[in-house]
Amino acid sequence: MYNTNVNKPITIKHMNISLRNSLAALLLITVSTGALAEQNKVASPDGRLVVNVEDRDGRLYYDVCYDGKQMMQPSQLGVVANIGDFSQKLVFRSVSNHEMKDDYSLRNAKASTIHYRANQMSVVYENEKKLPMTVTFNVSDNDVAFRYEFGEMNERTHIIIDEEKTAFRLPSHTTTFLSPQSDPMIGWMRSKPSYEEEYTPDAPMTAKSKYGKGYTFPCLFHVGQEGWVLVSETGTHGNYPGCRLSDYNAEEGYRLEFPMEGECDGRGAKNAAFPIPGATPWRTITIGSTLKPIVETTVSFDVVKPMYEASEQYKPGRYVWSWLIWQDNSANYDDQKQMIDLAATMGYEYVLVDGLWDQQTGRERIAELSRYAQQKGVSLMLWYNSNGTANEAPQTPRNCMNTVIARKKEMKWMKSIGVKGIKVDFFGGDKQHVMQLYEDILSDANDYGIQVIFHGCTLPRGWERMFPNYVSSEAVLASENTFFQEHHAKQEGFELTMHPFCRNTVAAMDWGGTIMNRYMSRDNKSRHRRYTSDVFEMAAAIVNQASIQCIAMYPNNLSELPQHEISFLRDVPTQWDETRFIDGYPGKYVVLARRHGDKWYVAALNGTNKPLSLNLSLPMLAGSEVSYYYETADKKSFWPKSAVKKTKVGKDGKMKITMQPMGGSIVCE
Ligand code: CA
Repeated sequence: MYNTNVNKPITIKHMNISLRNSLAALLLITVSTGALAEQNKVASPDGRLVVNVEDRDGRLYYDVCYDGKQMMQPSQLGVVANIGDFSQKLVFRSVSNHEMKDDYSLRNAKASTIHYRANQMSVVYENEKKLPMTVTFNVSDNDVAFRYEFGEMNERTHIIIDEEKTAFRLPSHTTTFLSPQSDPMIGWMRSKPSYEEEYTPDAPMTAKSKYGKGYTFPCLFHVGQEGWVLVSETGTHGNYPGCRLSDYNAEEGYRLEFPMEGECDGRGAKNAAFPIPGATPWRTITIGSTLKPIVETTVSFDVVKPMYEASEQYKPGRYVWSWLIWQDNSANYDDQKQMIDLAATMGYEYVLVDGLWDQQTGRERIAELSRYAQQKGVSLMLWYNSNGTANEAPQTPRNCMNTVIARKKEMKWMKSIGVKGIKVDFFGGDKQHVMQLYEDILSDANDYGIQVIFHGCTLPRGWERMFPNYVSSEAVLASENTFFQEHHAKQEGFELTMHPFCRNTVAAMDWGGTIMNRYMSRDNKSRHRRYTSDVFEMAAAIVNQASIQCIAMYPNNLSELPQHEISFLRDVPTQWDETRFIDGYPGKYVVLARRHGDKWYVAALNGTNKPLSLNLSLPMLAGSEVSYYYETADKKSFWPKSAVKKTKVGKDGKMKITMQPMGGSIVCE
């Protein structure tokens, strides 16, 4: 992953053309302000986003302006490593600039054809021991990505980084949309941290995080009138631990933190090590005056490269999943056969058989079920425990994914019976050896034609592009909580209108299902209700992005749901060529347009408890005849009544939609 993106150096000729075209006059200007301070700037191709890097008293800082407004105040850079301290007594050595250009395709993210254009600036600083560190910034129109690079040094073969000084200091009036990092080894069977905490919207930066352990990526910030900032990281695999942000302090801002000592039951180093020449993962900052660049960013994928070739053409699709509502006792042959029949009826590609299948069905009968499924055009995906020794999660099969010998044996067997995917659950935190386990599982699975979903896990960091058989990760307080507790059922509107702006914009998210049961029980009468409307759930299948998406339908839904809902759910795509932000506010409502082939799907979710009318601007559908799925309040029922009608979008692209409380609407061609 080192130095893979460098294209041609910018020549003087290029610079002249750039300047003549009045592209960013600030681009590449190096200003010397004396022996003690060096200042270097780089601007985006459109000139609106500018990163300034400067040293003060031997320490290195960067700041970021958008349209001349400071969105990131001077924030520290640098690392402390075994071979030396690269955070102080730094002396400027050189700067170089490149134009970055990468046209690439993706099959499992929010867009399929991406044209990445950025200006790159690398500044080299020497530490007290005269050892160089390069900080490379890639600046595209709305994204900054930066990392530390270390070249050959004396006889050193590798570097061990014990601490990063990397900081993010936002303007003081900024409010935050953050999810706290949990304490290690708490929660169910001591399985946290697993990125399953509640977001707090619009909080002041000075509010303390729930556990005092800072926040998990991605982190969304509202910088008042100036706009929005999303901070995350990408390109992490076995080369580095997964990082997070500290709690805020006014002097430093948020600091980048390594995992907690106690993760993985205290086992394994929390620091980072990689061979040199080499580089850290990229830290990313997405900036916009509106939420559009936040929702549409592809920076997680722009600055990484595939780590291997796909061993086959992996298929996107939909899956049904008995466990969500039928729970632990449903991993048996008869229940799974019903789910296969349901998937076949719906035209779905996959059935996910959750934990305990080895005990309740057994390997021989799983092979029999897999054959039965394949006759009906459906493929099985099987659940595995990632453990190992990371936590006490007891579900089986265990000890099949944590060592290479067991894993390859298991995958060889899966391939022999036609299993096409795995879901691996209950990982042990973000230490580097755990990131290596994710990478190893993905790489081995590719050798056997198996796609991978992770649960109880970390945030994926660029993995859609890096690992072609990667599908999605949970890393969210997902639909299982809607089932477990009424509190979370009530929060579903908030959650699903939060994630398009944050968790799901940087990476695929396995929410674990559009739920069509109205009560969280197998009989669909008992326990607590679902608080969202049917069209909300249907639209969520478009708003939530994962290339293999769970549609958590049950056989009873076939006779309960109106025909237009079943038809929609039968045809809903999961692979997107383009994504556009139409309207919304994190945690309140969202309207996205996604294109599949030549068809646009506009999906709207109302996360509030009040009706919501919106005048949408849909230029991609101007003058088109569309199907409009909408809802009207039903006096006899808690849930509104859904309907679909043909209508025409105005020639100006304008269309008015109305959503019920915790309702939704869909406009599609
Ligand atoms: Ca979970």
